[in-house]
Amino acid sequence: MIIVLLGAPGAGKGTLAGAIKDQLGVHHISTGDLIRAEIKAGSVIGLEIKRYVESGGLVPDEVVTRMIEGKVKETAADKKGYMFDGFPRTSAQASDLDKVLAANGLVIDFALYMEASLNVVLQRLTGRRVCRKCGALYHLKNMPSRKEGVCDVCTGELYQRADDNEETIKKRIVVYNDQTKPIIDFYKLQEKLHTVNADTGAEDVRKALIQILNGKKS
Ligand code: ADP
Ligand code: ZN
Repeated sequence: MIIVLLGAPGAGKGTLAGAIKDQLGVHHISTGDLIRAEIKAGSVIGLEIKRYVESGGLVPDEVVTRMIEGKVKETAADKKGYMFDGFPRTSAQASDLDKVLAANGLVIDFALYMEASLNVVLQRLTGRRVCRKCGALYHLKNMPSRKEGVCDVCTGELYQRADDNEETIKKRIVVYNDQTKPIIDFYKLQEKLHTVNADTGAEDVRKALIQILNGKKS
């Protein structure tokens, strides 16, 4: 099964993917995570792309597509399928993804649009905390860890992403509306688009996704 998760920053793509990837047995590919790992490693690419992420802009399409292509080539043989999170983010990336998949004999089954309102997204992003060690996601109010600042899963330290500050968040939302929102129509035309209300809690969104995957209309 191949799923693409769409939605604004803060819509809950990462949280949903985390909650469901084991159940589905698919690879969870988050370009945000791949990009942050590259920056943390201090690689040549990492140094080049850091400024885009920190300013709230998008990393160039070629760089991101190359990362995805590498991951798909590496794993296509195991036939587990994928959940793409944070990719595609532009029209060019959307058509590139179809090409990369086709080259491996694969095709997208579902594009899931997590529709969230602006005030919800802002509240989620400003309160988001991430585990430095395992990447688990928390929220100061909505999903707090049992012990403040400490990951429930691995006891790693929780931190606030550098791009989760108010100014950068605003820029990311503008970029989302300009460059990412139009690709919703791309998947509508392919008759793959399903929309869920992402203003509700994580468990409701998970249930809605399972219903869609089971073939019920949303
Ligand atoms: P969020 O969904 O909360 O914005 P992500 O972790 O998906 O967080 O992305 C963080 C940043 O990484 C983005 O603001 C952007 O700079 C970069 N990024 C992630 N995915 C892509 C992509 N597909 N294309 C270009 N840049 C990306
Ligand atoms: Zn952790």
